[in-house]
Amino acid sequence: MRTRVVAACATGLLTAGVLSGIAAQPASAEPAHTPGGPCLQEDQTVTLSSVADYEDVERRLATIEANSDGRVSVESAGLSGEGRELYYATVGTGDTVFWLQARIHGNELQSTQAVLHILQELGRSNTPEARSIRENLTVVVIPMYNPDGAEANIRQSTTPTRTDLNRDWENFVQPESVAFWELFAEVQPDLGLDLHHMSSAPRVAGTDDLNQFQIGARTVDPARLTDEQWATARQMAEVSLDALDGYGQTHVARYPDIDITNAALSRMLLGGTAPAGETPLSQDVVQGAIFYEVRSVGQKSNGYLATLFERPTMAVLAAAADGSLFTSDWADYDALPYADRGSCGV
Ligand SMILES: [Zn+2]
Repeated sequence: MRTRVVAACATGLLTAGVLSGIAAQPASAEPAHTPGGPCLQEDQTVTLSSVADYEDVERRLATIEANSDGRVSVESAGLSGEGRELYYATVGTGDTVFWLQARIHGNELQSTQAVLHILQELGRSNTPEARSIRENLTVVVIPMYNPDGAEANIRQSTTPTRTDLNRDWENFVQPESVAFWELFAEVQPDLGLDLHHMSSAPRVAGTDDLNQFQIGARTVDPARLTDEQWATARQMAEVSLDALDGYGQTHVARYPDIDITNAALSRMLLGGTAPAGETPLSQDVVQGAIFYEVRSVGQKSNGYLATLFERPTMAVLAAAADGSLFTSDWADYDALPYADRGSCGV
């Protein structure tokens, strides 16, 4: 592993002091994505023993890199607030750079497992799909964006201000945000995918179907996006939907229409902000970016939940690699219902 040399902490803290008033904006700006648990009962015991923690990530990345015949390289983008490495892995040599990010919210557990599995497959598999992805894409995989939050099993950072790292790409209070922005500026991804868990398990609107998977094709109002960005996002959503069509009892819904400009994906798409001392990038860097929200942890279905991330993610990677992504329509996405916002499957 190599470590990128970054001067992240000082600039992050400086920004925190200047802009702390903005950082403390009310939670009302954040619909439908409340922190806290999955649909667990008060007396239910949850074990995290099967969930990848920071040391697991370190260990598995090292193993994947060692077994990849040189295809996977693991590096660190910098240090978290508590001094943990901000690991990322790169696989593939293609011109199209694909940013795949997991667990920016520390208590959203299965996304880490999913991207490690994908990375392992891309590193060692010789299927036509894996070869195509490696030849046509350069995939940058971030298995645990928020290691401090992951270790504490909380959504936000642990230091210094319990910042939601997915609302920190305007103020850049946290060193994680600065480090990953610098990586973003270095690799300049064409496409982005961000993996989350939803905090409740609602029904698909108009049905009795338990909603297990949501697609967010927009983190900001499409009016802020270029025509190409909005089209590509819906194409990514369409390919994701196709990959889940008929998969078990997975009932897919559309994530609520949000307009959050300080989320990581939002600012990758919009450009225009940067940590102190850095030059902002323009809007034409990222061609399209979306996010997934998978139902939260139920111990008996952890493997299924990780697979819910893996299937559509692999489909989008494959479609980006063979070019079919960019000829897809988005009719099914346009017809996708929203979810009813009930509590815990009610
Ligand atoms: Zn989240």
